[in-house]
Amino acid sequence: MNFLKPITGSFACPAAENPTVVMIEAAYKQLGLDWLYVNLEVSPYALADAVHGAKAMGWRGFNCSIPHKVAVISHLDELGKSARLIGAVNTIVRQGDRWVGENTDGRGFVSALQKVISPKGKTIALLGAGGAARAVAVELALAGAKRILVINRSASRGGELVTHLSKHTSAASEFILWDKPFSVPEGVDILINATSIGLYPDVDGMPEIDVSSLSTSLVVADGIHNPPLTPFLKSAKQVGCQTVDGLEMLVQQGVLGVEYWTGFRPDASVMRAALENLHL
Ligand code: NDP
Repeated sequence: MNFLKPITGSFACPAAENPTVVMIEAAYKQLGLDWLYVNLEVSPYALADAVHGAKAMGWRGFNCSIPHKVAVISHLDELGKSARLIGAVNTIVRQGDRWVGENTDGRGFVSALQKVISPKGKTIALLGAGGAARAVAVELALAGAKRILVINRSASRGGELVTHLSKHTSAASEFILWDKPFSVPEGVDILINATSIGLYPDVDGMPEIDVSSLSTSLVVADGIHNPPLTPFLKSAKQVGCQTVDGLEMLVQQGVLGVEYWTGFRPDASVMRAALENLHL
């Protein structure tokens, strides 16, 4: 008999509203793995101790969410390609004695999007320029997006993201200041909300867009997972657009995390069903 369970988990602050534990437990169960995933609230001043503790206890890996995605880097031995390019880490993987930081947020988003449309050769309008938008933009560019329009309220963050994309990827990019309702220009194939607008408890929050500029051929995606059906996606559905929700992004980045830790690819539909049962 072996009574020692491999441990994984999540460090975030706040942590109580993060449903990741439910989908990862479902993945372990589906894979027949007797592994633990512990959802922990870790404040910024305690991050170093938490990481040292995980290392001391032989954890297999862990997730980091807000506000640790950048701060955790100084405690790691190396970064994977995506994490290096994005400058943030959400998945930490133990490889022998080394601790490697990966970023699965953007790749998770691209996997979710691929179910409806490939970003290759497409023109994309991206609302937001924070951490999630940066991860999504970098991975869309690496997946072959032709042009990325970054629409953001603060010019500094928007400009920084565009400069970053031009320097590190071959996608053309352009910053548009978001100081009036955004009207989707002709030629845009995919519109993405990567801001925090609409996230619980701001459930009526709607990014300021000119809904009359949405056409049926546009694919509309939202990074918000709670609630999965945001007012932004509702408006797009009403127009007849195909949509991709933030729950699928959450699931797909979780699939990559479980695969990094265990070496096995879990069934995304089982993970999604576990989250849907929560009725977020
Ligand atoms: P940040 O705080 O880094 O960025 C927030 C972004 O939203 C900024 O671009 C900010 O603009 C913009 N913003 C916020 N409020 C407004 C507003 N009222 N009007 C216009 N713009 C606004 O957050 P993150 O990028 O880390 O996270 C964004 C969202 O992505 C979160 O809600 C998170 O839940 C979601 N997410 C989802 C994941 C998933 O798996 N589904 C994974 C990771 C994140 P400005 O620069 O002007 O402040």
